Amino acid sequence: MGGEAPAQILVAHLRRQGIRDEAVLSALIRVPRELFIAQELRHLAYADEALPLEEGQTISQPIVVATMTEALKVTPGQRVLEIGTGSGYQAAVLAEMGAEVVTVERLPRLADQARALLRHLGYHNVAVRTGDGTLGWPAAAPYDRIIVTAAAPAVPPALLDQLREAGRLVAPVGQRRGQRLLIVRKEATGPVEAAALGPVRFVPLIGTAGWPETPPLLHRGRTEPDDSDSVESTAAPK
Ligand code: SAH
Repeated sequence: MGGEAPAQILVAHLRRQGIRDEAVLSALIRVPRELFIAQELRHLAYADEALPLEEGQTISQPIVVATMTEALKVTPGQRVLEIGTGSGYQAAVLAEMGAEVVTVERLPRLADQARALLRHLGYHNVAVRTGDGTLGWPAAAPYDRIIVTAAAPAVPPALLDQLREAGRLVAPVGQRRGQRLLIVRKEATGPVEAAALGPVRFVPLIGTAGWPETPPLLHRGRTEPDDSDSVESTAAPK
């Protein structure tokens, strides 16, 4: 094999995009992204692109994973809660950084697949849970870090409750169709919005402190749930 491995080329690109944290970059090199996506998309595994998962969900673009992971400032041994397991890729990146990860997914099928894959790859420091992540996962709280990988209308209060003091939370917050990445620090006096990065576009966080589920009719034939917000119900196929 001549030339650089695809993961190395991706990481060089992420460096040029401003990612500086070597722990993040080397975690991205170690996680085999091609195993977290459908076989027919594997040629795109190391392109800087978001890709479709089953059930209308998406695996985030590598630059977004890198930006969020860098903003989280994870150190080995920290307890990290992720909301929105999806493929399990982000959880694997956090596990590679030495975190003890609890990741919550509302769709049982995705949770089961991610759990099996993470176990197969030897990520024993990740626990995949099925449930409404807008309520966090109180059984394993408090967390040093919390990362939300679905678009929230606001930071769910339960997540701030379950964050340790001096902890950090990163979440895409805004509208269903577009968000900014918020970095929140929890201080003794309460949560402080440390910075806003972005803009980004995530699939919606659906649940008690998220968005309501969209009527299934509007999803028909679509791969991106976000698109269901467009007012096209009259044009939906019967
Ligand atoms: N981090 C994932 C991508 C997340 S896509 C990866 O690395 O592949 C967003 C995921 O959030 C979807 O799988 C979706 O089902 C899930 N989700 C949406 N609302 C949720 C909720 N309330 N609790 C847990 N997961 C949720």
